[in-house]
Amino acid sequence: MKKKNKKSNSKDIRAFSEKLKRILEDLQHKRDFEIRGQLRIGVVTNLDALAIIKGNRIYVNFNARRYPRPVLQYILSHEIAHIISKHHRRKFWEIVARINPDYQDGREKLLSIQATSSKNL
Ligand SMILES: [Zn+2]
Repeated sequence: MKKKNKKSNSKDIRAFSEKLKRILEDLQHKRDFEIRGQLRIGVVTNLDALAIIKGNRIYVNFNARRYPRPVLQYILSHEIAHIISKHHRRKFWEIVARINPDYQDGREKLLSIQATSSKNL
């Protein structure tokens, strides 16, 4: 395992966080969905899941930093949809599609990454 010093790690975390913010802004500008309050992004290294949402704050696992953009778009739209719908039912996927009409592409890419990755995140 490669060891990284703390400084470069925090720089990478900030860069990833900025990237996610831009993707989130893109999703919000292009699509007509409204969320009360402002959505915030947090990048975390100590998360078992790929991403979670608490209130209006989306936490994304630092391990996702090299995922292609469509995957990150899917992850964010998935978490945003959880604000409205808790469970992965039909209504939930309709909301994801409204936020991000191309989500299937990102979802498939993510599933294939997870299938080939040893770490099941
Ligand atoms: Zn979910």
